[in-house]
Amino acid sequence: MKYRKLGKSGLKVSALSLGSWVTFGKQVDRQGAKTLLKTAYDAGVNFFDNAEGYEAGKSEEIMGQAIADLGLSRDTYAVSSKVFWGGKHKMQLGLSAKHVRDACDAALSRLQVDYLDLYFCHRPDIDTPIEETVRAMHNLILQGKVIYWGTSEWSAQQITEAHTVARAYGLTPPIMEQPQYNLLHRDKVEAEFRPLYENFGLGTTIWSPLASGILTGKYNDGIPEDSRLNLPDYEWLRDLWFNEEGKKKLEKVRQLTALAKEIGISMPHLSIAWCLKNPRVSTVILGASRLSQLEDNLKSMDAVEQLTPDVMEKIEAIVDNKPAGPQRFGQ
Ligand code: NDP
Repeated sequence: MKYRKLGKSGLKVSALSLGSWVTFGKQVDRQGAKTLLKTAYDAGVNFFDNAEGYEAGKSEEIMGQAIADLGLSRDTYAVSSKVFWGGKHKMQLGLSAKHVRDACDAALSRLQVDYLDLYFCHRPDIDTPIEETVRAMHNLILQGKVIYWGTSEWSAQQITEAHTVARAYGLTPPIMEQPQYNLLHRDKVEAEFRPLYENFGLGTTIWSPLASGILTGKYNDGIPEDSRLNLPDYEWLRDLWFNEEGKKKLEKVRQLTALAKEIGISMPHLSIAWCLKNPRVSTVILGASRLSQLEDNLKSMDAVEQLTPDVMEKIEAIVDNKPAGPQRFGQ
């Protein structure tokens, strides 16, 4: 395993980490979670990602039980939660100071830990002043309940505002952002956030490196029965990929699959290694519904050196989605 600094913080996270969206609490039970976490941990993974909204808290419960079952030493791994979707009640939603605090306490209890290493605002909340959320996060840090706080799918402008407020009032600024990043989704990480890496030392914990499995090539000829896009309650995700736009992307995946074959690596390895090539990525959060996937994906580090400049050019030609340079934002 290789380790990277989480932005300018002192925390060194494993370049590959493990998340639990869709899987823990839906496809994976406590015993399965234990096996996945142990396999990841034994391979050097030191960051496990979660959120209050995943399976309505069940995902955190299972992760907490599995970590306790394994008896992992608390000073050897980092665990996260995210606040935003805590339930159906109005007060269980968003980033008000009250919900940020209540959600943190609930996550600590489900995960069976005394503090969260990373705590994310899962989405921006346009109904709450950013200052209120920054202050709420700062207070949790002072109380020892959170070590680092960050955002997920915020815009560069919103992250900048959080920093401006933090600087003005002597509060702790966000240190990391959790954006989607993969071969089919690049703009935020490669273009929009570019000034933030230099200005704020922003770290990134990127999600869906395989675009929910699309980038493994397993959907090239239709939807496999035992796959995420065939799960009940995830019809919305299937619809995202099997509309006109999605079908164009699937065609690119078919071409990428042929390229992977040509250079002798698997499609999941090509996709994950491509994310790892970007030094702005602090950690690639893997998802796995079964052990064989995790075992395979953990080997993708070995494929990085096979993505030579020549191969990277061929990939660019296929995906044809390279974001324009910074001038794009000054126009
Ligand atoms: P991926 O894009 O890597 O998708 C993972 C899924 O793809 C697996 O659950 C599995 O689904 C399939 N898969 C994985 N590896 C293989 C393989 N080798 N061969 C075949 N199929 C494979 O990541 P996720 O979308 O799961 O995201 C990773 C993590 O990122 C999440 O767990 C969560 O922690 C975080 N996240 C954060 C979000 C945010 O808003 N901040 C949003 C989404 C995720 P199956 O077997 O069911 O087909």
